[in-house]
Amino acid sequence: MKSLYVKFVVITIGIMVFSSILAFIVSNAYYQQNLKPQNDQKITKIAHSIARYTADHPGTDLNEYLGNISDIGYQIYLVDHSGEESFFGSPFRDKSLSASTKESVLNGNDYHGILHFPQKTFVTGFFANELKNTIGVPLTHNGANYALFVRPDIKFLFNEMHLLFGWMLLITIILSIVIVLISTKYLVKPISKLTTATKSLSNGDFNVELEITRHDELGELSHSFLRMARRLEQMEDMRKEFISNISHDIQSPLSNIRAYTNLLENKSVSEEESGHYFSIINGEIRRLSTLTKQLLILASLDRNEDILKKRRYNVGQQIKELLRNYQWLVNEKNIMLSYTLPDVEINGDPSLLNTVWDNLLTNAIKYNQSGGSIDISVEEKGEMIEITFQDTGIGLSKTEMERIFDRFYRADTSRTRTTEGTGLGLSIVWTVVKLHEGQIKVNSKDHEGSAFIIELPKN
Ligand code: ADP
Repeated sequence: MKSLYVKFVVITIGIMVFSSILAFIVSNAYYQQNLKPQNDQKITKIAHSIARYTADHPGTDLNEYLGNISDIGYQIYLVDHSGEESFFGSPFRDKSLSASTKESVLNGNDYHGILHFPQKTFVTGFFANELKNTIGVPLTHNGANYALFVRPDIKFLFNEMHLLFGWMLLITIILSIVIVLISTKYLVKPISKLTTATKSLSNGDFNVELEITRHDELGELSHSFLRMARRLEQMEDMRKEFISNISHDIQSPLSNIRAYTNLLENKSVSEEESGHYFSIINGEIRRLSTLTKQLLILASLDRNEDILKKRRYNVGQQIKELLRNYQWLVNEKNIMLSYTLPDVEINGDPSLLNTVWDNLLTNAIKYNQSGGSIDISVEEKGEMIEITFQDTGIGLSKTEMERIFDRFYRADTSRTRTTEGTGLGLSIVWTVVKLHEGQIKVNSKDHEGSAFIIELPKN
């Protein structure tokens, strides 16, 4: 596997090399098209003015004069009919030049070697230090004919300014390569960290730490990753807690049942005692049965697949029927029951919603005080229906209110343990209400009572 780091570095440097080559080719083409003819013309002019000077000043020493010209930055070649040649200025790398060219210039023609220097993609003719790459003009001095070939001395032209630019270019290239190497490391580092964190997460270690100081996409990704890790950890904790709660809630009635059946096996148990034991055993069986029923409902709600069997029906009527079933318990607990239950139609799952009312009503009875009261109302509010269960029971504190919808949560154990319960009822209520796209609110004051208000859409 090629690392992201290597890929990034190779691609960036590749881009740099590619663009430099492209830039060179473009500027070379520009030289060939535009600069070369201009350069040729300029040097032709200079060569002509040299020739004019020697023609006009027969008294000057030709060698000395050409030597001086070469000193200001030209390479010069002079040849006459007899073939005698002399060079001035720095030497040409390639001194070949055809005899016909020399002949033609001696006969009075100009030679445009710079303009006609062959084009090559990667070699700018401008730099070619060859005798062919010169301008040739005829020259006369003291009656003698010569051929003069001139080109600017490139080495001479590369003065301080050019060197400065050259160095600048070189330093820029080296610096950019170094910076690419370093910055890529910085860019790629968080990804390596994330990979390590992912590995430890997949090994079941949720305690991953990522130092995040970045505010870019990678920082965002790391944040999301951490959120995901925390969420997974929470879910794992919930799963463990759930199993331990269930095991406990199943185990304790079972051991009670075993203890009391052992007692019943004893022949000396009186009839009164055995009646008492049987009622305890029955109570525990009831508890187990409620627990498994609630677990089954929760499991099916969790599966979430088209569980709702909705139809239009009368909720007021439904709650009235439920009240009739619990009338005996209300009487037994000496509780005052009042209600406002008009005929209101709702589109919902009658069986699941019945479970909701059942749980809220039994809670209002269970957690009430003797001589307390319960008020139940159904009210239409535009597109919504509001159903309220109000009691004058033990109430809930603020911290308890935040947790009552959690699975297995039972508030303040000293008060609750004396009443039967699993801590699953309200989680079922919450899930069913959410499935119906409704809301649930709790208003409660410790020791004064609670109100559970449910809002459901009519359709
Ligand atoms: P349980 O089986 O314990 O009743 P629930 O999920 O129905 O479980 O309720 C969770 C907890 O919320 C209860 O244990 C109780 O402490 C608290 N609670 C529920 N309803 C009321 C109420 N009407 N008044 C006071 N506390 C309540």
